Amino acid sequence: MINYKSYLVSIFVSLAISIGLQMLLPWPFGLIAALAVFALYPLILRNRAMRRMGGMGMGAGSFGQGSGFRYVCLACNNRFKGAICSRCGSKMKRAEF
Ligand SMILES: [Zn+2]
Repeated sequence: MINYKSYLVSIFVSLAISIGLQMLLPWPFGLIAALAVFALYPLILRNRAMRRMGGMGMGAGSFGQGSGFRYVCLACNNRFKGAICSRCGSKMKRAEF
């Protein structure tokens, strides 16, 4: 899970940006830009936070990485998402549904 507080802050920041955009741009464009910012800003924030943690995230809430299934490491039995085991770095894995 990402930090709840930083998620709230990101919502307020994107809200402020979208209000500013609607004041700067004529109506349809301002609304479209505002919606785009509101949709994208939390994703960008989360992406940066994940990168800062070096992919050590708790797994929940990670996006990308294909579909909903996860893998089980054959070396240490750790469950993980993505290409390599988050605990031992092994690429030996099997899919778990
Ligand atoms: Zn492992």
